[in-house]
Amino acid sequence: MAEQTIEHAQPLTVLAEDEAIFRDAVREFADAQVRPLVREMDEHAKIPRSLVDQLFDLGVMAIEIPEAYGGAGASFFHAVLAVEELSRVDPSVGVLVDVQNTLVVNALMRWGNDDIKRRYLTRLASNTVGAYALSEAGSGSDAFALATRAKEDGEHYVITGRKLWITNGNEADIFLVFATINPEAGYRGITAFVVESGLAGFTVGKKEDKLGIRASSTCELIFEDCRVPKANVLGEVGKGYKSAIETLNEGRIGIGAQMIGLAAGALDHTIRYTKERKQFGKAIAEFQAVQHQIARAAMDVEAARLTVYNAARLRDAGKPFLTEAAICKIFSSEVAERVASLAVNLFGGNGFVKEYPVEKLYRDAKIGQIYEGTSNLQLQTIAKQLLG
Ligand SMILES: Cc1cc2nc3c(=O)[nH]c(=O)nc-3n(C[C@H](O)[C@H](O)[C@H](O)COP(=O)(O)OP(=O)(O)OC[C@H]3O[C@@H](n4cnc5c(N)ncnc54)[C@H](O)[C@@H]3O)c2cc1C
Repeated sequence: MAEQTIEHAQPLTVLAEDEAIFRDAVREFADAQVRPLVREMDEHAKIPRSLVDQLFDLGVMAIEIPEAYGGAGASFFHAVLAVEELSRVDPSVGVLVDVQNTLVVNALMRWGNDDIKRRYLTRLASNTVGAYALSEAGSGSDAFALATRAKEDGEHYVITGRKLWITNGNEADIFLVFATINPEAGYRGITAFVVESGLAGFTVGKKEDKLGIRASSTCELIFEDCRVPKANVLGEVGKGYKSAIETLNEGRIGIGAQMIGLAAGALDHTIRYTKERKQFGKAIAEFQAVQHQIARAAMDVEAARLTVYNAARLRDAGKPFLTEAAICKIFSSEVAERVASLAVNLFGGNGFVKEYPVEKLYRDAKIGQIYEGTSNLQLQTIAKQLLG
């Protein structure tokens, strides 16, 4: 059996025919439709609704949703390819698609009953953006110290509290919200709810003014006696911690994809620029010192891509991937920062101004080491697996 497996094993970066067609379609879209908007979206800190609509038309907002609910019925690996290709051009668009697929859709598909799937997956597949609301001002890394409260009241839960830093807050109409039904029970009180925009007592608060991924909205959510029907509990009452951990374990592979896309995009710009820019009578790409720096960046991107693809393929194969996902996130985010920094250096003065694309990628890279578990938390996960 083992020999048979080896015989059929493919190199990690060899794509199946449908994967290659999908990747090329997203790449073409990113270059034609996203690239012309990147600077304006960064300046105005906004992704236009028309672009979000185009993402739905392209089929990247419902990648794993079964065809019966209007989705593409494709794999998690397809989602990784989409996030990578979009992030190569704009990591803000990459994360909008990432949260939709790897967190929101993923959680609903895994823990939603038939009723929830029918009501929400169909909307997420057609035109509705989703958001994933776990963090609060007092609970980031220590996510299960959350204070948002859900009190039982007849056929409803009444939610009160505030969520912070919620990606897609301004675009979303479906919010996956984690709250505790019993603060004394610790993490065993945490329960996941599907909350719709427009519900009385629920408002989207201030949008953060950020260093990077500025076009991606990051918002506060405010719940004041917001009555959510019991039918909107996702999974079991008191088991929200499990869905939060398990979706985030998968979601961080998506952040790895965002970061390798960003790094590959920065490297593309660098290769093009260093071949054009002349100093001392020749293209700066002709200096061996520059060539070696570019070669190192390519090494970094290749190695990071392998960690991301490996984690994603393990996940699709139903094999354990916890350590690999943590490794891919921390490594890819470090590579993204390193490669974007080199890009700024090799663009010289032009690397420092907004007219050229790499200063934005340098700013965008920083988030990879913070959200969906900081680098210290990833190291903790890896060490725990190794050391017990
Ligand atoms: C742009 C953006 C988008 C986001 N999107 C979302 C979203 O959609 N949904 C959502 O729920 N959240 C989201 N977040 C929140 C994000 O996940 C948290 O910011 C992150 O988990 C870190 O939490 P914190 O900010 O409270 O930092 P803290 O937990 O306060 O950490 C501060 C520092 O202390 C370190 N630290 C903390 N605990 C330990 C420890 N035990 N050992 C070693 N070091 C430790 C951390 O590594 C970090 O360096 C987003 C954040 C940002 C900035």
